[in-house]
Amino acid sequence: MSEPSPIPYEKNNFLTNIIEEDLKSGKHKSIVTRFPPEPNGFLHIGHATSIYLNFSLAKRYPSSRCHLRFDDTNPEKEDLRYVEAIKEDVRWLGFDWQDHLYFASDYFPTLFEWALKLIEKGLAYVCDLSASELIKGRGTPTEPGQNSPYRDRPLEENLELFHKMREGHFDNGSRVLRAKIDMASGNLHMRDPVLYRIKKISHPRLGNQWNIYPSYDYAHCLSDAIEKVTHSLCTLEFQDHRPLYDWIVEKVESPHIPRQYEFSRLNVNYTVTSKRRLKELVDQGYVSGWDDPRMPTIAGMRNRGFPPRAICKFCDMLGVSRNESMTDMSLLEECVRSELNETCPRAMAVLDPLKVVFTNADDDFEQWFDIPNHPQDESFGSRKVPFTKEIFIDRSDFMVQPEAKFFRLKPEGEVRLRGGYVVKCTKVHLDNQGGVDFIEATIDYDTLGKKPEGRKVKGVIHWVSAPHSLEAKIVHYDRLFADENPTQREKSGGRFLDALHPESKIEFPSARLEPFLGDSKQGKAYQFERMGYFVDRSTPEGLQFTKIVSLKDTWAKVQKKG
Ligand code: ATP
Ligand code: MG
Repeated sequence: MSEPSPIPYEKNNFLTNIIEEDLKSGKHKSIVTRFPPEPNGFLHIGHATSIYLNFSLAKRYPSSRCHLRFDDTNPEKEDLRYVEAIKEDVRWLGFDWQDHLYFASDYFPTLFEWALKLIEKGLAYVCDLSASELIKGRGTPTEPGQNSPYRDRPLEENLELFHKMREGHFDNGSRVLRAKIDMASGNLHMRDPVLYRIKKISHPRLGNQWNIYPSYDYAHCLSDAIEKVTHSLCTLEFQDHRPLYDWIVEKVESPHIPRQYEFSRLNVNYTVTSKRRLKELVDQGYVSGWDDPRMPTIAGMRNRGFPPRAICKFCDMLGVSRNESMTDMSLLEECVRSELNETCPRAMAVLDPLKVVFTNADDDFEQWFDIPNHPQDESFGSRKVPFTKEIFIDRSDFMVQPEAKFFRLKPEGEVRLRGGYVVKCTKVHLDNQGGVDFIEATIDYDTLGKKPEGRKVKGVIHWVSAPHSLEAKIVHYDRLFADENPTQREKSGGRFLDALHPESKIEFPSARLEPFLGDSKQGKAYQFERMGYFVDRSTPEGLQFTKIVSLKDTWAKVQKKG
């Protein structure tokens, strides 16, 4: 895969203001950011915005850097295959962590030492309450929590029990290590939060070394502190965790103090951006995998044929803010379209072929048109396209009983063939089911590169030569969900899965292509005239092209009707 140069981060926003103030005041000489995925699934478009933000900020400021840190503190759901997939996705977007690849699990010994320190300072204790008792004792936003009966355990007992937790003496869920803060705090996260849980589970990287695992709140801030992260950027749901973040970093007496800043997460309509839901789609077989071309995952978008630059452009266009909102999928698609418009050569393909026979051409008639490969950019050159007595047009470009304003081919009607002549339909042959079998037409030989005389011909259609064209399979991909907000269904007792779009994948097994596409290469993208952008996904079994995006936003109308 090519490594594009990502769109440079030039916009100013509340984060660049904070960073620039810190640089100006001398608080920091350079900045360190991090992208901290949990390896429990593939990354999605929401993660792409976070990758773009963190890596681009580090690029923007001199001597700064961005770490890729795996937040692998939750072994039940994590897998090394996700680690590899995430690395590939970040690279493909055009970003480079250089030597700064880290795993929170590498810090487990330090985190453990720091936990001992908190116990010794009387700031943490082992609590034997069950999970449900913990929740009950926590109180509500309007009522204070209750002190745990274990809160005042002697220091020595805490140390001994915590060591024993680590060594595997106790069952899962029987005890936790908690910070001793304030059960009456207005912030629920400050009510003696859990720092460690017993989980006798093998860790993907460390095997059975640990029987206890740190909580997100405990591990995240301290990983930032260890890596000397200056600006720890996360999504808004962590705002209420910030006092705890600061408390932990302060109380362990970390020499480096990182700061957390929050921004709003990306939500995109007509899809879901939650690993849990995406995993459900994969596990239940609604899609072919995390990298199914209809998935909003980075791997899915790569398979779909979205250029990484288009994704970066989208992230750049959105910018960063603290306002929750829903972003229109059309915006992402428009970024893809505008990128492909510049980079894709044109070609002609017919999805559902209808034969046209020219009665005023000899059987061996053959002419080669010279057609430009790009309407605006001459550097794309041109190609020779064969025109013969029999051609194929798309069935949808012909109507026996045309509706008003149908400017394509109809009985006794005229249309221009893209790059070629004006032709007229003279006769329709029906098959025995009453469908159109083939049509007869005549060529107006006086119209190549010229307007026809004395009449207006409005429509232009694409076509391929019947004997020269190649048979191929074309697959149409469309939005995965038909609802603007699929998770809305859950609010009325439904499932987000019920919002799946039944026609998100349609196969056209006997499409026809212009002959030069036989020499195309896997992964190469084209604009199939009047149809959209397609990528070569041919296999040893045969030619295959799959749809990246349509030429126009076909959903805008649906939404208006909605
Ligand atoms: P999900 O909610 O999909 O399970 P997550 O937040 O649990 O995602 P992580 O792997 O923990 O996934 O996320 C890594 C980073 O990506 C975090 O800093 C997180 O804030 C950020 N991130 C995740 N989802 C989004 C989103 N929709 N928009 C912006 N940033 C996101
Ligand atoms: Mg998370």
